[in-house]
Amino acid sequence: MIVRKLFHALPVFALTLFILVLLDLQLRTRSDQKPTAPFAHEKTPSISRTTAVTQHRDVVNDKQRPKRQRWREMKPQPPLELTDIFIAVKTTGRFHKTRLALLLETWISKTKDHTYIFTDSPDEDVSSEGFNIVVTDCPPEHSHQALSCKMAAEYDHFMASDKKWLCHVDDDNYLNPGALLSLLEAFPVDSDIYVGKPSLDRPMRAQEMLEGNKTRDVHFWFATGGAGFCLSRKLAEKMAPWASGPRFEQTSAVIMLPDDCTVGFIVERRLGISMVHSNMFHSHLENLLLLVPSDIPKQVTLSYGLFENKMNSVELKGVFTKDEDPSRFRTVHCLLYPTTSWCPVALKSALSWNQHVLP
Ligand code: UDP
Ligand code: MN
Repeated sequence: MIVRKLFHALPVFALTLFILVLLDLQLRTRSDQKPTAPFAHEKTPSISRTTAVTQHRDVVNDKQRPKRQRWREMKPQPPLELTDIFIAVKTTGRFHKTRLALLLETWISKTKDHTYIFTDSPDEDVSSEGFNIVVTDCPPEHSHQALSCKMAAEYDHFMASDKKWLCHVDDDNYLNPGALLSLLEAFPVDSDIYVGKPSLDRPMRAQEMLEGNKTRDVHFWFATGGAGFCLSRKLAEKMAPWASGPRFEQTSAVIMLPDDCTVGFIVERRLGISMVHSNMFHSHLENLLLLVPSDIPKQVTLSYGLFENKMNSVELKGVFTKDEDPSRFRTVHCLLYPTTSWCPVALKSALSWNQHVLP
């Protein structure tokens, strides 16, 4: 009798046990999936959003990484130095004397070791002075292809270096090294940064060539090359599939636009990363008179040229106080316009003034 009762109870017992095991298993799986990110509700007032996001991602993946790597990431990073920046200057043979010489005498003399001049003709005068000159095979033209060819060389040389940032400028740019360092050191270490000044007040519209002779509309922001721009190493590494070796020129051909637009296209469209817009870069396309004189020493780049058929100039009045140097307390017109007879002198001294004022 008892045996028979037991015999009947056994399947019920087995079923209950099975259900219990199943329930337990489900509960365990759920608790494993719960978010473990402490940063999601922790206050992180001193970290910027980007850093917090990066840290969050790191916490989630923490278990998968070797201990040594985790330890290295926790170590404080050394502060960014000017020499960590690879400065690439684009020029061409016929501008060596008219444009480059002035830069060599002024700001490049202060950043000589980590500034690289990308050109299309050798120049014994420049190389014998110990400047880094890279003579590319690019044609000496202002065509999309020629300009992209030089930008590709800048990218490849930077990738082969140990520098943390790539900053591009044209040979009609005055660069203020101190302001550049202040700008870049404010970004979180190891972040994806593309910073510069957009040349338009709206995204660029282009036609992307697709297979089978088809095209599609694409929109993206880009930093105008004539004002200069910078890319962090981490972002530059991600750009490699579209930017390294012959690929940069190929990508440029896909949108039929020059080098600076191509950089914007790769970063914003291929990688989905937004450009950081900065007002500290200035091309000759801007009315430089709009700059407040006291703000001039804070600018990362300046340029010169014609604007609305008038000479584009910057007033330096107020950069020096009377006590600092009475002889230099005056207005300098045509600061950045070296093609008239009296301007080269003003330009030279003005650029050295900037060097003098800025530490
Ligand atoms: N450039 C060049 N090859 C040329 C003409 C210009 O590499 O045949 C370079 C020039 O040295 C400068 C940049 O391209 O760094 C832009 O040229 P420019 O300032 O004359 O014209 P922009 O495009 O700014 O109007
Ligand atoms: Mn220019």
